[in-house]
Parts: sequence; structure tokens; C-alpha cells
Amino acid sequence: MTQGWSELIGQSSVRAGFQAAISQRRLGGSYLFIGPPGTGKHTVVQLLAKTLLCRLSDPQEMTPCGHCEACQQVVAGSHPDILRVQKPKDKTVIPVASFIGEPDNRMREGFCHDLRIRPLMGGWKVGVIDDADCLNEEGANCLLKTLEEPPSKTVVILIGTSEQRQLPTIRSRCQTVRLGPLSRDDSCKLLRDVHGVQQGDEILHEAVQISGGDIHAAVRLLEGESGAVRDGLLKLLQDRAPNPVEIAKFFNQQVSEVGKDASKRRAMLRDLFSISVQHFRQRMRSEVFAGRLQHVTGNRLDRSLRAIRELDRSANQATLIECFASDIASGETGDRGEIG
Ligand SMILES: [Zn+2]
Repeated sequence: MTQGWSELIGQSSVRAGFQAAISQRRLGGSYLFIGPPGTGKHTVVQLLAKTLLCRLSDPQEMTPCGHCEACQQVVAGSHPDILRVQKPKDKTVIPVASFIGEPDNRMREGFCHDLRIRPLMGGWKVGVIDDADCLNEEGANCLLKTLEEPPSKTVVILIGTSEQRQLPTIRSRCQTVRLGPLSRDDSCKLLRDVHGVQQGDEILHEAVQISGGDIHAAVRLLEGESGAVRDGLLKLLQDRAPNPVEIAKFFNQQVSEVGKDASKRRAMLRDLFSISVQHFRQRMRSEVFAGRLQHVTGNRLDRSLRAIRELDRSANQATLIECFASDIASGETGDRGEIG
């Protein structure tokens, strides 16, 4: 468990930014944290909360003790002055009621209301909105006033994975803090020390690369959590003439099995494309080794990498799957340029 800022892996500029803001007493009221999963967004929120709420250490010192009641409550998620909004598992967006209360109790409960109540412990209040990717216009509108004029000694943090998914009204009212992909050394350290994965640097780094900097996806890939899924997909990809209908069917089946949660569906797709990247990369290596490199193998590798890049921009997953399956079967890279 992270105790102090020294244990934050990478993200040194984020740490330095908050250190400067806190020591100069100019900590902002609203922040938008953006970064791939597993790069430290929640860790920074927790460290910031401990720094502000620790009973034994002045915030300006940036050295929360880690063992006072407040620090322990932060870690346990039970601190009364930390308010948290998350998307319910069975919903695709964060319900308006989470912010402004149920219809018969509007503005008398919910995140925006509770944030204005005096801190119970007499210090700071911290509001956290997880899954900011899943804010819709309606939810965002409820938040605008709170983000514009947060009460004093209050900090609101929204957590999202990509900038494109945030509404302009939200972006313009928050300071954006980017938690970029971790360096090679930092991601290896994180995978070993925090996630307990024990493989060589090369393998760890490759997993992070094909996961697009998403550390959680890299862990799933390395731990072979997707074992059965992996075997099923490999069987289809290893075929001399891959069947596009079967591939698309397999993808759709896996995606529908994880439910309606858009981020989980995207994570499943990322895993599937990552398995595909790994497969074609390995095949290319063995073809090179045997001195008979096939042109289509390189194309299929490129196509799989492209699919991962497209994942974040794509609104229509069904089309993405269909195009991928058809290109893999025909051995095309899918690079259709900007037009068409
Ligand atoms: Zn403490």
C-alpha cells in the first residue's frame, strides 16, 4: 500500500505540480485526471487526499504519516470528508441523481449538495468522480456550478482515461492533469512491485506496449487471465485461411459476455486485439527465423496494431470488429488512408 509520495511510480511531474500548488497555497478547486488505466490516477488521488487530511502532518510538507486515523480512513475508503461518485455497474452513464439527488429530493442530497456541507473533521473536503468517461451532458450540467465555484478548502477530481471522451464543458472548467504512459523502467517496476508479475523486462515491456500503456490490460495479458479466450482466438488465427465470419462471431461473443459496460467491452476488445498482435508477432519471428517471411503475416500484425489504436476513437465496435475480421482474413493492413 502506498504510504507517501515517494512510493508513486513515475508521474514525477504530477507530484511536483501538486507539491508546488500546495506549498504556494494555490491548489485548484477542480481537476481532471487523464491517463490510461493503471498509470496511477487513483494512487495520486489517494496521496493527495492523505496529504490534505492527515492529522499529523501539514499538507505543505507533502508527507502524510500513513498511520493516523485519517490516513487509514482514506485508504479504507471510509473518510467522512471524501465523497465519491461512481458509475453503477448496471448503467452506462453516471445517473443525475448521484449529483443532485432523487427527483423528490432534488438539491437536498447528492454529490453537489454534500460537497457544500462543512467538513466533518474540520479540514479539507475531497470529491472524486470516477468514470468521468461515462458522464453525459445531463450529468455534466449538474456539475458545472460545483466545478466553477467549489467551496473553499474543497478539491474535486474527475478521473477519466482519454481526453477525447470528456465533454468540453467539463474540460474548460477543470485543470487537466495528464498521467502519461509510464517509462519502460517504471512500468516494469510497477508490474513487479505492485502487481507481482515476475517475468523478464523484455516480456513486460512488450506487454505494456501492445496494451497501449494500459497497465491493467498488460497484467491480464501477462497473467494469462484470458487463457481460455486466448486459446479460442488462436485456433481461428492459426488457420491457413482465417474465416472472417468465425472471427467476427468469436469477437462479438466474447464482448457480449462481459455485459453492457462500455469500458469493460473495450477492455475485452483490447485483450483480443493484443492476443492477435502477440500471435502475429511470434509468427513473424518464426517465419524470419525459417527464412520464409510471408507478406500477409506482416500485414496482419499491422492490422492488429491498428485495431488497438482505433479502439479509443471508435464509437461503433461492431463495425470495428467486422472490418478487422475481414482484413485479417484477406491479409490486408486496413490502411485506407484518411478518405473512405
Ligand atoms: Zn496521517
